[in-house]
Formats: sequence, structure tokens, C-alpha cells
Amino acid sequence: MSQVRRERNCPVCESTSKDLIIKIDFELFERHPMNGGYDVVQCNACGFVFADTRVTQNELDWYYTELSKYEDKTISTGGGFTQKDKDRLIETAVFLSKHIPDKNARIVDLGCANGGMLKELKNLGYNNLVGIDPSSACIKITEEEVGCECYQHSLFDIPGTVGKFDVVILSHVLEHVLNVRETISITDNLLNENGSLYLECPNAEYYYDVIHAPLQEFNAEHINHFTETAFENLMGLFHYSKTVTGDKTMVIASNQDYHAVYGLFKKQTDNTSLFTVRFDNTIRKHIDQYINDSNKIFDKIKETIAALPKDEPIALVGIGQFAFKLLKTDIFQHGRAYKLFDNNSMNVARKINGKEIMHGDNLVSEYRTEKFTIIISSLIYEVPIAKKISELFERNGEKVPEMIGFSHLLSGV
Ligand SMILES: [Zn+2]
Repeated sequence: MSQVRRERNCPVCESTSKDLIIKIDFELFERHPMNGGYDVVQCNACGFVFADTRVTQNELDWYYTELSKYEDKTISTGGGFTQKDKDRLIETAVFLSKHIPDKNARIVDLGCANGGMLKELKNLGYNNLVGIDPSSACIKITEEEVGCECYQHSLFDIPGTVGKFDVVILSHVLEHVLNVRETISITDNLLNENGSLYLECPNAEYYYDVIHAPLQEFNAEHINHFTETAFENLMGLFHYSKTVTGDKTMVIASNQDYHAVYGLFKKQTDNTSLFTVRFDNTIRKHIDQYINDSNKIFDKIKETIAALPKDEPIALVGIGQFAFKLLKTDIFQHGRAYKLFDNNSMNVARKINGKEIMHGDNLVSEYRTEKFTIIISSLIYEVPIAKKISELFERNGEKVPEMIGFSHLLSGV
């Protein structure tokens, strides 16, 4: 794989012609490869929407290996450890079982995280399951929880010795990878003749339908924005036939819906037929609406913070994708005193803009040193974070300070 820094061609159809939609910038952890942000662009040939980043796959691999949030069982997705997570995985496993009747089919989950999907397939009677993930912690958990064949590899270094498969699952992987077509080539090499590829990603067609936080879907991790049309174009170019595509919703921590696009595609032995890409006619309208609605909410949030007393510091609690964007705004870039708190052990002690993130348990002692206004900068986890802060202050015999959250603004667009 080339490590030369260059902007991206369309990850689906390889066209070099693209239009700028919006510039996204973040203030991320120091050494994070996505610092400096990126342009969100649309391909003029197929309509695909993607982040035109200069980051390299090696940098992304390093990030996912070293800073993987998936290693914290209480916060992760994909491990099936929360009921909502489990329901989503059961639904997918049941869907697959309808199309893959053979319980001896050799099935691999690429990027298996903590093995949640494999566990549900095992519960349905599948007995030839394989998990592959770049994280050693994930592989260890999958081995313990599922007891299946497991290998620690990144997508790009899977050796031929793992063998061939009847089904490859790529669930919530493609939105993260720099080279989508190389990823599909790799999965193609892993598939037996007439094998099936299952794809699932966040559905960009419906970002506008439920806003989880302003511009949340344009984050430091998701650089490809798929729709059913994009899946059809991508797999059509690889001469796969479509078994089925569709939209499904799952429920996330804030009790909001989350749309995912899925598709099952079958490898064809005859790949001589020409395939012409179909331009995605609806995505741009929906992305523009998503951006407009997001910006309205973001403006209200900035107004709220700008109206706070200037001499009182701010404590930002819940350092995730929205905080990264908030910290890049003028409010935090120019002189405003602030402190950062988060309870995720993967984030604590990391630095953003030279400032170290403290564990949330330090809120009371820090507050006793210097009073501050608390801003809960995660909209998705606002309710549980607010509850935790209240309990912490009460437990320490302190009056709970004013807390500002923004999730109430989400319904107002
Ligand atoms: Zn394209």
C-alpha cells in the first residue's frame, strides 16, 4: 500500500472529479492522524460522499490499534455487551441465517471487535466461525466469549493461511477505511466461488433524519458515507450480484434511532459483463439538509456558551466527537479558561491542545480549587453523565453546580 500522502479519488468508482460540500475541523488528541480536519466532498461521477483526507492507512491502523475505544467493554459497540447492542447483533444474525441456510458455512467477521456477532451466529447453530481483528484485546475477548478460530490481523495483512470462506462479514468497517476498493479486493480473495459478502455501515441517506449531535457523522473515524446506491455501485464494479440491500434502525445510548445501510452481495463466477455506475440522485439533498440542521443547532450551542460569564472557567465533560469540534471553535481557541474531563480510561491523561484530560472523579476536588460551569459536551451520553456528576457531588457533600447540556436542542430544528 502506498504511503504517499495524497488526497483521495472516489473510494467507490475512482473518479478524480469531486465537489466540496463542507470543511470539517477538530481539535483532537495530540498525535492523532486526523488533526487538521478534512473536506467532505461528493464524487461527480457516482455521487458518493467521502472525507477527502490526506491521512495514510498506516496512520489509521496505528490509531485503531493504539487508541482503540473498542477495548473498553462498558463503552464499546460490536461486543454485544449491552442489551441494545445485543438486539442489533441478533437481528443481523437472524437476517444472515435466512440467506445462508448451511450451518457448516465457513463465516468470517472481519473487524469482529469483541465477537458479539459471532456469538449470535453460534447461538443460531453455525459451527464454522472465524474472527479477525487488529486488536489483541478484542481477539482475546472473542476467543473467551465465542471459543471460535481467531486471528489478530489488520484487514491489510491477512495471510493466505487463514483459508477461504463462504461468507465474509464487513459490519461497520467500510466507513473507517481509506482504501475501500482494496478492502473489497481483499474480501474477494477470501471468498469461495459463489460466496456472499455482507456489508453494513451508517446510512448517509438518513443522517438528516435523526441528528445525534451537530455534524456528528462527519467525525475523526468515519471517512466514507454509504447508501444503498453506493453499495450497489461498489459491488457492481466488482461484478457481484445483489441479493438484497436495505435500511435498518438501531437504538443508541441517547435512545435515538440510528440508521444503518446493509447489503448482501454474491460473488459471480462469470465477471465478463460490463457494469455502469448509477449516480446517487438523492444523497446530496439529504446531506445538505443534515448540514443545515446541524449548523442551526451548533449556532445555538455556541450562543449559549458565549453568553456564560467570561471570568468563570468551563469544565467540559465527555470528551468525544462533539467536544473535538467544540474545542476548535473561537470560544475555546481564544483565551477562554477550560478544563477537560472524561471517564473513559482510553481518554484520560491524553492531551488535547496541550491540555490533559482528567478523570471525571476529579471534578469535585477541581471545583473546590476553582469554581467552574460544567458543560456536558457529549449529547449522546448527556443523561448518564449528568446523573454521574450529580451523584459525585452529593456523595462528597457538595452542592451540585450548574450543568449545561444541549440534547434538548436536537428536537428544535
Ligand atoms: Zn464515484
